[in-house]
Order: sequence, then structure tokens, then C-alpha cells
Amino acid sequence: WRRRDAAAVWHPFTQHSLWLDDEPTVVDRAEGPWLYDVDGNRYLDGVSSLWVTTFGHREPRIDAAIRDQLDRLDHATFLGATHPVGIELAERLLAVAPRGDRELSKVFYAGDGSSAVEVALKMAYQYSTQTNGPRPQFIRLSQAYHGDTLGAVSVGGVELFHDTYRPLLLKTLELGSPGVRRPGQSAAERAAESIEELKRLLAEHGDQVCALIVEPLVQGAAGMLTHHPDFLRAARELTDAHGVLLICDEVATGVGRTGRMWASQHADVVPDLLVTAKGITGGYLPLSAVLTTQAVYDAFLGAPARARTFFHGHTYTGSPLAAAAALANLRLMAETNLVDRAARLGDRLGARLAPLAEHPGVVEIRRLGTMTGVEVRPRGERTGVRVCRFARNRGVWIRPLGDTVILMPPLGLEDTQVDMLVDALAGALDEVYR
Ligand code: PMP
Repeated sequence: WRRRDAAAVWHPFTQHSLWLDDEPTVVDRAEGPWLYDVDGNRYLDGVSSLWVTTFGHREPRIDAAIRDQLDRLDHATFLGATHPVGIELAERLLAVAPRGDRELSKVFYAGDGSSAVEVALKMAYQYSTQTNGPRPQFIRLSQAYHGDTLGAVSVGGVELFHDTYRPLLLKTLELGSPGVRRPGQSAAERAAESIEELKRLLAEHGDQVCALIVEPLVQGAAGMLTHHPDFLRAARELTDAHGVLLICDEVATGVGRTGRMWASQHADVVPDLLVTAKGITGGYLPLSAVLTTQAVYDAFLGAPARARTFFHGHTYTGSPLAAAAALANLRLMAETNLVDRAARLGDRLGARLAPLAEHPGVVEIRRLGTMTGVEVRPRGERTGVRVCRFARNRGVWIRPLGDTVILMPPLGLEDTQVDMLVDALAGALDEVYR
């Protein structure tokens, strides 16, 4: 398999630079939190595949829902047609959406996180053209990650991803991340600085800005940079005051990962556009969605005739099989109180990890709910990779982001499995820093 893989497959980020070993692990099957490779090894999946599984792999009731759907309808276009499972999923998503000073009342489906971010960006810009604009600018956070399509890269804050493609990117205004603190600075103090900077940006450029896009409370791909909820609360007020839409990208943080259904709920904020993907189908199939307010939707209906539509609609939008997986996942999450279990799992993870804060190799442990980053002190080359490789030798599958080791287990992980995860990390750290 490895020889054939090397001959035929072009992997993300071009081949082996990101493997933990010189050659990729060939995954054969998976069940619950366990991955099995073709060489007969078993690993505890400590990162929910790529932050997607909720119950783990092959939860029997989600499997059954997909099979049932397959017996009825595999695919139908959502352009000029609809189907029950797509409607039911939209209703369910709106029922579990964050609530507060506004209501999310429409669901637009897309394929994955990046394409849903594109939808939100296009919607926000077009909304401005039909209301208070056109306003061609977006405000984005430094360190942000919103996906790898051109629009999503444009509103990201990782220079490496901008460098090569810069002439193709949208123009944006950067706001210093509220998650990047100076030594000794509190999260609240840093949030206050970012709020002041946002005020200045909006005072100067507000009438050119259609939206502010943020990963609420946790910037995941930046290495689980957490920030104070004050920032999001103030961002909500300031964007409203300037007629700017607030986009919360909950691709990573949503669907229970932070111990609430949505990270925005930690700040009691309802965005104008909420982007969800990853965990929504329980990790089974690609499906994402943008939830919007009626006010956004109505701007498209009330627009001059030519613009009275949103010019977007891809082939697999609202895929019935993916929608069936998502519906089963969300129902099962409600029936089993999975979000509360995720909160408790996060607490246990935090408690078990706490002693590691004193480890000579650990710079900082950052966590909200189950989303956890353990930043390690560089020692030699690719320290994060080496820590994860040693953990893998101990039967635990985790991945680094630079020098931050990410733990993001399936939400239903059992206590003994949490212990195995943390023990493997601790053992791996001892090996690297011995
Ligand atoms: N937004 C955020 C916050 C993400 O973490 C990611 C993926 N890690 C994306 C968007 C892109 O999602 P996808 O990889 O499904 O395109």
C-alpha cells in the first residue's frame, strides 16, 4: 500500500513533510475511538480523526441511519428540488442554534468547512451591496485559520499560507488576535486591547467593512489559542453599531467540542452568520452549513431583480446521505446528553493534564472543553512531531501543530481512555526531555 500510495497519491501539503514517520500509517478500519492499521496495530484516536468524530468511529445508530437513507434516496439536487432529510436537518440545526438578541432562521448547505466559509463571505459581501454598501473589506484576526480555498485563505492570518497566493487574495484588515498574550498578561487585559483596536479599525474603515470573521473563543489551527469571552461580546456590539455582520466560524469549535453546543454560547453571542462543518455529521461524510438570520435572508429577497438571488449552489449541496448522518448524529447527541458529557470529559482531561504544566518540556496548556493544546518547548528538530511519534509508539494517535500538541478526543471518550491519552503524552514528553 505504501508503495502504491507514493506512486499515485498527492497528499495535502505534498507528501511526507507532515508524516510522523517516514511513511504514512495505512489505516484499515476503525471502531469507537480506536484506529487499526494494516500492520495490526491499534491506536486510541486522540484527535477525532481530523477533529470530526463526535461519538467515535462507526457508531451503530449513525451507521443504520445512513443505510436507511441509502435504501430510499442517494442523491437529489437541491436546486429547484428538496428532500425530507435536508429539511429535517435544517429544522434540527435551527432548533439547536444559539439564542439571544437575534434568531438564526435559515440554513444554507455547503460541502466542507472551507466552502461554507466561502458561502459566508460571499453572502456578507452581497448583503452589503444590497443594504449599506457595497463594502468590499473583511476584518480578520491574526493567527486565524478558516480553510484553504482562496476566500478562506484571504481571511486567515497565517503568513505562510498567504505568501504564495497573495495576488489572488481578497483585501482584508487584520486585527491582532485576542488570544496572543504577552508574558504575564491576563486574558481579560489582552481582550481589552483587541477591543480597542477593533474600535479604531471600525471608526476608520467601518463603512468599507461588510463583516468581521472570527473563530469564537478558540483559534484551533493556531494551536488552540483561547481568548476571553469579553472580546466576542464587544465584537458583537461594535459590529452592530457599524452595520457590519459578525461571522462566527464554528467549524472546529461547534457541535459540542468546547463543552457547549457552540463556542459563541460561552459569550452569549448570536452571530449573523454561523459556519458549521466537521463534527456535524459525526465525522462520517462531508457536509457543512451556514446558519443566518432572517434579516440577511430578506436582503436577498428584497434586492433589485437582477441580484435577487445568491449566486451559489454546488452539485452535492444538501447531500441526503450526509444529511442523514448529520440528523442521526444530532438526535443521538441530544438523547445521550453528549454536550454535557463533553464538558465533563474536558474537565477530566484538564485535571489529568494539570500536573504536566510543571513538566520541563511544557510551555503552556490551553483548553476550552475538549479542545486542548499543549505547547512544548522546542528541543532539537520538530519537537511536536517527535512527542506525537513517541505517543504513537504508546498506542495513542495525536498530531502536532508546530510545537503545540493537540488533544481533541471524541466527545464520548471513557475515563480510562482519557487516562491512556494523558499517560501516553506524559510518557512521550519524558522521552523527549529526558
Ligand atoms: N474553519 C476552521 C476554524 C477550521 O478549523 C477549519 C479546518 N481545520 C476550516 C475552517 C476548514 O474546514 P475544511 O477543512 O473542512 O475545509
